[in-house]
Amino acid sequence: MTESSPSSIVVTIDGPAGSGKSSAARALAERLDYEFLDTGAMYRAVALSCLKNEIDPDNEEAVAALTRSLEIKFQDGRLFVNDQEVTDDIRSSAVSSAASVVAQHSSVREILVDLQRACASSSPLVTEGRDQGTVVFPHAFCKFFLTARPEVRAQRRYDETPKNDDRPAFAELVREIRERDERDANRSVAPLKPADDAISIDTSDSALEEVVSSMETIVRDKIKDRV
Ligand code: C5P
Repeated sequence: MTESSPSSIVVTIDGPAGSGKSSAARALAERLDYEFLDTGAMYRAVALSCLKNEIDPDNEEAVAALTRSLEIKFQDGRLFVNDQEVTDDIRSSAVSSAASVVAQHSSVREILVDLQRACASSSPLVTEGRDQGTVVFPHAFCKFFLTARPEVRAQRRYDETPKNDDRPAFAELVREIRERDERDANRSVAPLKPADDAISIDTSDSALEEVVSSMETIVRDKIKDRV
């Protein structure tokens, strides 16, 4: 599972849940006209499939076998698993929690990391996750690590959750984010941490536009320096 040097530019954005990395990565990719990859969605796709097939997310062997059987595909910003659209289904709290459990298994990560690297083989890419700058693309052109205070991150998640009967209470979201942070940061494979050469940005008190603009400036300056 070594990184074959990607033929195009890769910008990585890592950080914890609610740090703003998904929105920032999507907007940055649009501004730069690069492809965008949401790697958390891949772990979520595996987690959703576990829940649907009654497979215990803790059972590494069973989850790895299931992962191998899945065709995970992004198309026009929508996510498909074995040709079934799951874009919205992967966003539930149950799937969030199960995703951070399946993400602890090295055999599952290997399968998904290969898919992630394949995405960088043909077009310039902005990719976001937990390990993009540290493990998946250690030689990325530009790396960012986004953070935000835990209560800000929980509030963002709360605001993003559809306001229906299934909306978890705010306190429940704080608990879920804490648990996930703990699992993501302390697992033995590819734990959540900034790469040594990542630029860290605290997004707690900044508007998305502001964050994306400063990232865009950094990437464009680096491109200028390269030529
Ligand atoms: O980013 P998102 O909240 O969608 O990620 C869901 C879960 O997938 C995370 O809590 C983390 O456990 C896992 N993940 C990961 N490595 C990535 C992306 C996500 O372990 N590159």
